[in-house]
Amino acid sequence: MEAVVRAKHLENEYFYKRDLELIQEQQEQERLKAQHDEAQKLKELHWMHCPKCGHQLHELTCEGHPVARCESCLGVFLEASEVAKLPLKEDTSASFLTTLHELLGGGSVS
Ligand SMILES: [Zn+2]
Repeated sequence: MEAVVRAKHLENEYFYKRDLELIQEQQEQERLKAQHDEAQKLKELHWMHCPKCGHQLHELTCEGHPVARCESCLGVFLEASEVAKLPLKEDTSASFLTTLHELLGGGSVS
């Protein structure tokens, strides 16, 4: 009789641990889904909006580099990956900045 009680106890312990693992796994999946949904919601809410004033950004191309410009505050946004692609030589950087200045309505720089 004692062996039967011990076997039942081991069985209950096994199912308790298994249920606990399944519950923890399900909670982790729900947490990851909520995190993903929140990130998606924020992206949809803020996509192509100015980080300074919240107005719509418009894409321009400056010497092959995409640049986002706010029509309201005239702010300019460059993604870090695009900044990393900018040439480091002084003359070509100056060319990029000159073209950007002209695109933004500053006229030509002499
Ligand atoms: Zn703005």
